[in-house]
Amino acid sequence: MLTFHPVEHQKQARKRIAVIPGDGIGKEVIPQAVKVMQASGATLDFTEFDWGADRYLRDQTTVPPDGFAMLARDFDAILVGAFGDPRVKSNIHAKEILLGMRFKMDLYANVRPVRLLDAALCPLKGVEPKDVDFVVVRENTEGVYTDAGGVFKQGTPDEIATQEDINTRKGVERIIRYAFEYCKAHQKHDGSPRTKVLMCDKSNAMTHAGELWQRTFKEVSAEYTQITSQHMYVDALCMQMIRDPRQFDVIVTNNMFGDIITDLAAGLQGGLGMAASGNIHPGRTGMFEPVHGSAPPIAGKNVANPFGAILTAAMMLRHLEFTNEADKIEAAVLEAVRQGKTTEDIGGKLGTREAGEWIARNMSS
Ligand code: ATP
Repeated sequence: MLTFHPVEHQKQARKRIAVIPGDGIGKEVIPQAVKVMQASGATLDFTEFDWGADRYLRDQTTVPPDGFAMLARDFDAILVGAFGDPRVKSNIHAKEILLGMRFKMDLYANVRPVRLLDAALCPLKGVEPKDVDFVVVRENTEGVYTDAGGVFKQGTPDEIATQEDINTRKGVERIIRYAFEYCKAHQKHDGSPRTKVLMCDKSNAMTHAGELWQRTFKEVSAEYTQITSQHMYVDALCMQMIRDPRQFDVIVTNNMFGDIITDLAAGLQGGLGMAASGNIHPGRTGMFEPVHGSAPPIAGKNVANPFGAILTAAMMLRHLEFTNEADKIEAAVLEAVRQGKTTEDIGGKLGTREAGEWIARNMSS
């Protein structure tokens, strides 16, 4: 039976955090998140790893031998920046490190909270912070991301390419169950209970996989009679997210739809620079990363918004049961947004470093 917070090492006073800044703006925003965690008073030991494009270009290493086993064995949580560098055209390092962590460590639940901190950040009119407070639970180990498929007669007029969408009963059931358990165990930010789980799919067109998701959702939801279960096709959901984001609570969906709808959802909360996520398998070492990528066009300029990474750090601390520290960080980010102490993408004038320093200095004790 799936339960929350069952991690044995949570009883330890100090937590061991692996930090992998990666590439591009990951190398700028992650140091700010670390600085803020240190200022929060959480008892953490950080170990930094240089996995990423620079290392790959230097010695061809993507993940050192035993790397994932070491992370799972020696750390309580992992904080990751982003991977992707124009110098590595194949993006092989990103694939091996990031997808490797998700797949090989079997971090099957990608949890992406969508919360509007201030009305000024939302492009929709008349939408208040209380109106945007939902969570997307994205399946993280299957779907089209398994790279199953192939090409035939490549480069000829008869070329065929297939990309297979892998859906297993085990994978579908555990992510749906995770969403219901999440709904049961978590409140909204105003303290009210979460009450609804909505499954998003495209079962009218993707009939085979859709039928598995539909049947499994029906079976699992029957075990949670106190939670309202709902369904929406992904196209309708995109429209509804813009028309009326108030209606959403917990959304569960497959890997690709989760990827797409959380970029849309990030737009509701101020853009990619504000969005946080966790990759979780209850009972195992989790990996936390901002939703944004390495953003090569803005990398190295001290302009990237560090708040997505800082809110990700708060999410990680909450997962490790540093509740007070997580609250303090989130409150300081909220205050920064209200006072305009932000980077330019959300209307402020600060650089990445200065925005991070403002948060580190302005946490109430
Ligand atoms: P990936 O495929 O790894 O998600 P991507 O290239 O599709 O990466 P991002 O790297 O996330 O997308 O960023 C796309 C654009 O969004 C960036 O070029 C940048 O303009 C903006 N952006 C993303 N993250 C931030 C941030 N933290 N602060 C400011 N702007 C950002």
